[in-house]
Amino acid sequence: MHSPLSIRFWGTRGSFPVGTSRAALREHMVEAVHLAEGKPLKSRAEAEAFIDTIFPGTIPRFFGNNTSCVEILDDDADTHIFCDAGSGLCDAGQYWVDHGASSGATYHLFITHLHWDHIQGFPFFPQIYIPGNRIIVHGFHENLEHAFRLQMSAPFFPVPFDALKASIAFEVHTPGVPFEVAGYTVHSIEQKHPGLSYGYRFEKAGKSIVYSTDSEHLEGVEEAGYPFVEFFKGTDVLIFDGMYSADDDAPKLEWGHSSSMMGVELAHRAQAKHLVLFHHDPTRTDEELEQSLSHAQNYAADCDYDYPQDISASYDGWELNL
Ligand SMILES: [Zn+2]
Ligand SMILES: [Zn+2]
Repeated sequence: MHSPLSIRFWGTRGSFPVGTSRAALREHMVEAVHLAEGKPLKSRAEAEAFIDTIFPGTIPRFFGNNTSCVEILDDDADTHIFCDAGSGLCDAGQYWVDHGASSGATYHLFITHLHWDHIQGFPFFPQIYIPGNRIIVHGFHENLEHAFRLQMSAPFFPVPFDALKASIAFEVHTPGVPFEVAGYTVHSIEQKHPGLSYGYRFEKAGKSIVYSTDSEHLEGVEEAGYPFVEFFKGTDVLIFDGMYSADDDAPKLEWGHSSSMMGVELAHRAQAKHLVLFHHDPTRTDEELEQSLSHAQNYAADCDYDYPQDISASYDGWELNL
């Protein structure tokens, strides 16, 4: 039971899925063996208990492989809410197959934009092959349905869209006009990104979650009336495009992404409670992502900011309770 709300991060990488390299795995294993020195680990159970104390913890976290997919959970077991359909959606779908999601459940997919890393999990989402399931894809791009059909057409994919067994609908909404879905009030905002993207704000039971990825903040960001400050206002959780860190040599202007420092600044101005860095650069190692998070936390501490009250870096498999 998830009460009142929680968020599960299934995919937190940007651009493309990454594999776990042998070098990264080795690094984690060496660190774990080093920390285990002198500990009497005589059984598998003791080894597991020991690993649970350090992971995630003193060794760098394993940030994970999948592209964008975030699930919002509440106590309604038959209605599922996902933000974006990157490769994380495949793991999410398999999880719900294994954990007894009934056929006949409804899955709402809120899509920020149609770049591949945000829709590539859909053809492998097991729920689309199960009769009785309802899938509703929400978005703002006029070609929303076309893009989903196109990526499942020859020569890209073997199963045509029309062969899917679930009932699948597309709802193209008007940016900035709130709508209601499964007891949530959903607000939206147009974001600066090649081909445009859209941020979402979900409100329910006095709580709010903002999902704002693939969004660059340039023109007008210094101004008092910058619309994103209002959009993020007082939110409990701000999931933010923190693709770049302070360590990047040159900011990638016009690439349509943002930085962890920009996240801190906007969260501060909007009095957002918890800033969650998201859409990690796929070329970054676990250690580099840990450092990027520390820099953002130190920066906020140095500035003596009251908000954000917490700063986290999301990782695949993380569940955050509100
Ligand atoms: Zn992306
Ligand atoms: Zn994009």
